[in-house]
Amino acid sequence: MELLSKEEYQKIAQGIQYPTKAFIDGEKVESVSGKIFSTENPATGEKLTEITACNEEDVDLAVRAARRAFNDKSWSGLAPVQRKKVLQTLSELILEHKDELAVLESLDSGRPISDIAPSDVYETAECIAWHGEAADKLEDQVTASPPDIVSMIVREPIGVVGAVLPWNFPMLMAAWKLGPILAAGNSVVVKPSKLTTMTMLRIAELAQEAGIPAGVLNVVTGSGALVGEAIALHPDVNLITFTGSTAVGRTLLEYSGKSNLKRVLLELGGKNPCIVMPNITDLEAAAEGIAQAAFWNMGENCSANSRLIVHKDIKDELLKAVIEKTKAWTVGDPLDPQFRLGSMIEKSHMEKVLEYIETSKAEGADLVYGGRQILQETGGYFIEPTIFDNVTAGMTIAKEEVFGPVLAVMTFSNEEEAIEMANDTEYGLHASIWSKDVNEVHRLSRGIQAGTISVNCFSEGDMGTPFGGFKQSGFIGRDKSLWASRQYTEMKTIWMKIC
Ligand code: NDP
Repeated sequence: MELLSKEEYQKIAQGIQYPTKAFIDGEKVESVSGKIFSTENPATGEKLTEITACNEEDVDLAVRAARRAFNDKSWSGLAPVQRKKVLQTLSELILEHKDELAVLESLDSGRPISDIAPSDVYETAECIAWHGEAADKLEDQVTASPPDIVSMIVREPIGVVGAVLPWNFPMLMAAWKLGPILAAGNSVVVKPSKLTTMTMLRIAELAQEAGIPAGVLNVVTGSGALVGEAIALHPDVNLITFTGSTAVGRTLLEYSGKSNLKRVLLELGGKNPCIVMPNITDLEAAAEGIAQAAFWNMGENCSANSRLIVHKDIKDELLKAVIEKTKAWTVGDPLDPQFRLGSMIEKSHMEKVLEYIETSKAEGADLVYGGRQILQETGGYFIEPTIFDNVTAGMTIAKEEVFGPVLAVMTFSNEEEAIEMANDTEYGLHASIWSKDVNEVHRLSRGIQAGTISVNCFSEGDMGTPFGGFKQSGFIGRDKSLWASRQYTEMKTIWMKIC
């Protein structure tokens, strides 16, 4: 994928129109309270613009619009093939606006354009098109029944869905939810993270242009405490789908219990292991994959492999190679395509990550690479990729999700110990295995408790594979694939006597 130059991206940034209003019932609107909040560019610390700050009154308006649209069948009542066409148009519009969306997301999140422009925008468009394409391929069932009975199991859209989104891959996480939600015929009320609101707002405008009727896709901007909570407690929301921290996920389950027992789908954090066996022959490839798994997206990635669990016999050699590969993960201006890493999402998050680095030193881990805040002169929140050797199970960085570019290196002596160490966490989202022995790979893949295992690579799979977590990395929810589609439907049995 050919990238533009830094100057070209800067020019787009200068001319960009920030979407700043909430999007309710097909209209760009101020909040009922008239309040606003500021959003900043974390790569400069400067204010970008002011965005509408909504609260429960705005959520109620959005849910009412979503319910009205669901009931009037302007979307829910379409033949699946018609929804497919609209979603395909939306996908095309996203691609038509790919540079604008990439720059908008980079400015808003500090994420490198070198990732967003060649990957995220295309994957966002692909995800919408993939689920659109699936809309008229999903089949219901006719079950074995007595001759005078027709017995069917059918899937119906669940109704009004609330989607609460994170800041780490704003567009893509929106698409992972919106694709299957909309393809199934639901209406949706989305709350993007207050840190990264703008690409979701722009996509809502494009969705309207593509032909999604008013009220079907609503975006309510503002804080989790006001907007997210109001969606989760609303008695007329049928399901809430969420990506973010385990702590907030827990709260959403409580809100469901306190309100209408809405369905809850959670995709949460991870403390993901990467296991390297002593038989690997391509140390360079493994080192490359390990650095990518740890540092991609500044480690602000729920599937980041933040624990390298390597056999003691090859640790020194592998670590040397990982350090060499890490040097290629350069940090700088997110709009400059030469850099692979941008800034952390906000000052307080950067400070939290720096605190983890200090704690690790104090607890006796050996800092062997990075460890500092850099580029302070930009006003932004940049941290070097950081590696700690000799980490032990009791240390904080072996247990807690840092959500930053920090890799903890630990060693094992045999396969059983490797599995035990990999599973020694409350999380279970992702794991990587590097090994040349297919039997060993199979035993490890079955032994590790994680929703996705990648072998001899770092990957979350593609649109056809489900993504979600074991243990406290998730609750029922799976993004991507036909598994995601089914989650946004209710199952109905129809038992019909032939007279
Ligand atoms: P949060 O879980 O706090 O935020 C995720 C979303 O939930 C945001 O839109 C947020 O709103 C909203 N929210 C916050 N509180 C509530 C609430 N009471 N009710 C409803 N919605 C709420 O994650 P953070 O953004 O604070 O990140 C913290 C940690 O979460 C990270 O360090 C990481 O460990 C994990 N995380 C995991 C992600 C993943 O991909 N699995 C993605 C992002 C974070 P608001 O706009 O106010 O933030």
